[in-house]
Amino acid sequence: MDRPKDASDRIVILGGGLTGLTAGLVLSRAGRSVQVLERGPEVGGLARTIVRGGFRFDLGGHRFFTKDEKVAAFLGGLMGAELVTVPRTSKILLNNRYFDYPLRPLNALFGLGVPTTIRSLLDYAGRRIARGFKETPIVSLEDWVVDRFGRTLFNIYFKEYSEKVWGIDCERICMEWIDQRIQGLSLRRAIKEALFPSANGGMATLADRFLYPARGIGRIAENLREGIERTGRVLTDARVCELRHDGLRLERAAVDGPGSTGDFAGGEFVSTLPLTSLVDMLRPRPPEEVARAAARLRYRDLVIVAVMIGRPRVTDQTWIYIPERSVPFGRIHEPTNWSGKMAPEGKTLLVTEHFCFQGDDAWRTTDERLVGNTVSHLARLGFVKPDEVEDAAVVRVPHAYPVFEVGYENSYRTILDYLSRFENLHVAGRTGAFRYQNMDHVIAAGIDTAQRIIARTPADFEMDGEDTDLAELNA
Ligand SMILES: Cc1cc2nc3c(=O)[nH]c(=O)nc-3n(C[C@H](O)[C@H](O)[C@H](O)COP(=O)(O)OP(=O)(O)OC[C@H]3O[C@@H](n4cnc5c(N)ncnc54)[C@H](O)[C@@H]3O)c2cc1C
Repeated sequence: MDRPKDASDRIVILGGGLTGLTAGLVLSRAGRSVQVLERGPEVGGLARTIVRGGFRFDLGGHRFFTKDEKVAAFLGGLMGAELVTVPRTSKILLNNRYFDYPLRPLNALFGLGVPTTIRSLLDYAGRRIARGFKETPIVSLEDWVVDRFGRTLFNIYFKEYSEKVWGIDCERICMEWIDQRIQGLSLRRAIKEALFPSANGGMATLADRFLYPARGIGRIAENLREGIERTGRVLTDARVCELRHDGLRLERAAVDGPGSTGDFAGGEFVSTLPLTSLVDMLRPRPPEEVARAAARLRYRDLVIVAVMIGRPRVTDQTWIYIPERSVPFGRIHEPTNWSGKMAPEGKTLLVTEHFCFQGDDAWRTTDERLVGNTVSHLARLGFVKPDEVEDAAVVRVPHAYPVFEVGYENSYRTILDYLSRFENLHVAGRTGAFRYQNMDHVIAAGIDTAQRIIARTPADFEMDGEDTDLAELNA
């Protein structure tokens, strides 16, 4: 294997999450020189698996589901026999009762008691009739859900949970999030899907089986890293702090540790860093209006509190959603329901997701208080007895969700217009491109970005028996 002739042949990938690593693997298999720079001590970003003793957990359970054949083939080739198929059964816990998630019409309506059911149906029917006379513009998440489910069901099932996740009123959550997340979902369609299930499993949100690596979602990133390192380099504990450019091209990324310091020059740069951080790191600095636009975009952060328990199983669910405001976490999952390899024999764990912004109490408070509070709520909800808890772990996850606040598009457009002047900068992924993307989307984005770069750069070396063809990549 040859090394690149000079730094201009190197492709520098900023961030070692699934987008960056997928791009890195496709590029390195096509004979390009790849350098991944990842701030954390491990690769995987949001899709990594934490290991504590014999326990393993994701940062919020990550199921893999795709309708994209290219992505399915890529993942299958990468993971082989590591993938298991898991049935999905999720519930919403509301007023001490369990409701199916995704909402199933009969259960959602009739579990509420007769008066509320009648009110919900009348409200929904009224909405449909009113819509026939006058189209009202759909701007926010609230407009969208009320339009498709009626206000009664919106208040019961959507409002509290959405506001917990996003930290802002549903009126201020842009409906674009819905578009990217649950296209086509409505009470009418959900009823149809319940009565006449479609052959292809219907909408993505209603899929009832998914793929999962038996030792946690982080195995995908680990395998990608291993593949890249056959020819390229992946540096962890390498925080990118500055990006030097000449106005048209990025020239080098400066890294300030903790594991490594120095400059990394390159010919092409793939950024999967938070879009707002990317703008902040450019030197010379971008015009004031671009910096202001970046300051207006926000990400929602997440604190994970995992509680290790000395009995084999607590629930039989994939996820349990908890809209109630008084409970500090919004969702629970039990990794042993996803794969038996996620805990030592005879033990299990519950993983709770606390959505917050970095300045909030949930982010700043001590681990001890977070664990104490989490255990007492889990006990109150009937999941555990405090004396069954053997251990706990807290992980703070920055930039978990791009926040689509009504009106965010102008700021977003200003930033993208400015960045488009850099001929060798490729912005990609969920965090990097500020899109609500799942793993299958970001893997596709990584492949597409790599293929665009391959089309414009000559190979530095040839891999024996491998080329840029995806079929080969999957071999
Ligand atoms: C709670 C939760 C649950 C989810 N569940 C699912 C699910 O069930 N199914 C599904 O398909 N998807 C799920 N997702 C989405 C999935 O996690 C993402 O689509 C995917 O992991 C995004 O990958 P990425 O590489 O685009 O971004 P990231 O994973 O954010 O990668 C960006 C990387 O850049 C690094 N970085 C940041 N700043 C710097 C810096 N200054 N220098 C160097 N590196 C830096 C970060 O450490 C990170 O590793 C979930 C996400 C969350 C938050």
